Parts: sequence; structure tokens; C-alpha cells
Amino acid sequence: MKHSNIFHKISRAVYNYLMFFLLVAFLVTCTTSLFISIFSSTLNFELTTENIEAAAKVTFLNVILLSILFTVIDAIRRKLTTEKITKHIVDAAKKVVEGDFSVRIEPVKNLGVDEKFSEIIDCFNKMTEELGSVETLRTDFIANVSHEMKTPLAVMRNYGTLLQAPDLSEEKRIEYAKGVTDGSRRLAEMMTNILKLNRLENQQIYPEITEYDLGEQLCECFLQFENIWEKSEIEIDTDIEEDVKVKADAELLSLVWNNLFSNAFKFTKPGGKVSVSLKTTESFAVVKVQDTGCGMSKEVGKHIFEKFYQGDTSHSSQGNGLGLALVKRVVDIMQGEISVESTLGVGSTFTVKIRRM
Ligand code: ADP
Repeated sequence: MKHSNIFHKISRAVYNYLMFFLLVAFLVTCTTSLFISIFSSTLNFELTTENIEAAAKVTFLNVILLSILFTVIDAIRRKLTTEKITKHIVDAAKKVVEGDFSVRIEPVKNLGVDEKFSEIIDCFNKMTEELGSVETLRTDFIANVSHEMKTPLAVMRNYGTLLQAPDLSEEKRIEYAKGVTDGSRRLAEMMTNILKLNRLENQQIYPEITEYDLGEQLCECFLQFENIWEKSEIEIDTDIEEDVKVKADAELLSLVWNNLFSNAFKFTKPGGKVSVSLKTTESFAVVKVQDTGCGMSKEVGKHIFEKFYQGDTSHSSQGNGLGLALVKRVVDIMQGEISVESTLGVGSTFTVKIRRM
């Protein structure tokens, strides 16, 4: 390896030298022939063979020396402007190959350096930054999934142990069995959400666009929560414009409404109010889901669309922080918009805009 390296270096130096030699020889021959021919014709003197021979020898030596000088100067220039930077880039790329995505290359400010290098370095730094964040997302995702799985599994194990006790009353047996079923339901829900999100993110779900009545869909979804609002004595208010047609994937959008309604009811205390409205603008159908629930701080509001984020931990057992991540993904796929306005202790309003045509 080392020998072939040295051989490569020597042959490269010889090649460079030959190139300079040919260049200098060509330049010197052209300029001296021109100079001598003009000089001899204007001064009217004859060149003898001896004269030419002596001049040719000196010129040849001169060409050899000049070529050596140029080769050395060029080698130094390359070392300073190209090789040093290429070595930095190669070293950094090797670190990336080994899995270190924290590596960054210092931008070059040297005047003699080709500006293409700055572009390469810029792209390289952006690439490692992206790779780093993808890696963090991946490890965070695995950590989050494991964490979310541990809780229901521990609950199920406890109930399972309790169920093994002899002489259990019928009431206790039902209670413990319900604990196990609830835990497994939570796990199954989380897995379904993860799979859905994964398929949405990898674009494996292709939206099936049809034209349908959005108002009807909102009413149908909202009615599914009737038991909850009756049980919790939550006041409801609907203001739904009639005959609002949208071209969208109805199944995916029902996921959005179900999640928003379920959150509104989950975070609203008995006696509170949940409202849903549908209005239209020229190009959008605007759905607002409003509640008088616990609301959220600005800081929480910034993260609610992230996977596994739960701002309000008091309801953590009723969800897994994937609902709004799914909602956001679906709205993005439908090229719509979603925003939230919320005041801590007062309530929240989620606004979703869906394109009408
Ligand atoms: P989860 O299923 O755990 O509720 P989501 O993704 O649906 O997860 O919501 C993420 C977080 O957003 C919740 O933990 C909560 O802090 C906040 N949030 C969502 N909807 C509301 C709401 N209507 N009122 C107050 N906070 C909400």
C-alpha cells in the first residue's frame, strides 16, 4: 500500500514536470524564434550554426530549470489550497462512514481556494446535520415506543398476578380482568397509531380522493362522542354550514376529526363546553373545534404535533402522544393547514383548513 502510494506520488510529480516542461519549451521556442527572426532582420546580421547551438543549449537548460521551478511552485500551491482541504473533507467523510454524524468542516476563507470547495463543505455540513437529526429521531422514537409499551405491560402484569390469587370475589376478578383488557387495548391502539403514522410518513397510504359532504362527516364523527358528553355533562354547540363539499380522502380526514374531538372531550371537565363549526372561504372549508378545557401554555403548544409528546400528563393513560402527530400528517397530505390557539385554564381552539376543490 505504502509503496504503491510513493510510486503514485513520483509518477504524478514526473507527469506534472513533463507538462510544465512541454509548456515552457513551447513558450520559449515560440518567443525566442519570433524575437531572433525580428532582431536579425532589423539589424541585418546572419546567425551561424555555432551561435545557434550555444544559444540552444543555454535555452534548453533554462527550460529545464524553469520547468522544475514551476513544478515546485505548483506543488506548494496545491498543497496549500487543495490538498489540505481535500484531506479535511476525506477525514470528515471517514468519520461519517464510522457513524459519527457530529462532524463538521470549518468553512474556508482562504483567497486562493477554489470557491467550489466552500460549496462542497456547505453541503457536507448540511448533510451531517440532517443525518444527525434523523438519527436522533430514530433513537428517540425507539426510546419513546419502549417507554410507552412498558407502562401498560407493567399494569397488565400486576393485574395478571392479582388474578392468580385464590378465592377472588367475582367483583375483584372482573376488575382485574378489565385491567388486563384495558392494558392490551392501549397497546393495540398505540401499535395501530404507530403503523398508521409510519405508513403515512413513508407515503405508503395513497389518499383516495372523492367529493363528499364535509358537514355530514363532521356530524357523524361528533355523534360518536354522545355517550361521553352526556356522561360528563359537557355542553355542546354545533354551527355547521350546509352543503359544504370537499375533495379529500374521507377515511383519513375522519381520523383528524376523531382525534380533535376526542382531545376536546378528554381535556374538558364536566360542565364545560365543546363546540364545532364549519364555515367556508373562497378556497377553504374551515373547521374549528373549540373547548373550554385545561388549555395549554405557549411552550406546550409548540410541541403538540410531535410524535409521543404529551403536554398534559394527567391524561397520559388515555393516549400516547401520537394523535396530533397523525392529525398533522394527514392535514399535510391533504395540503391543508392546522393551527391552534389556546390559553392555559381557559380552553383551546383547533382550526383546520381543507381545500374545497
Ligand atoms: P394524546 O393522545 O396523548 O392526548 P395528542 O397528540 O392527541 O396525544 O396530544 C398531545 C398533547 O397536546 C396532549 O398531551 C395535550 O398536552 C395537548 N392537547 C391536545 N389537545 C388538547 C386540548 N384540546 N386541550 C388541551 N391540551 C391539548
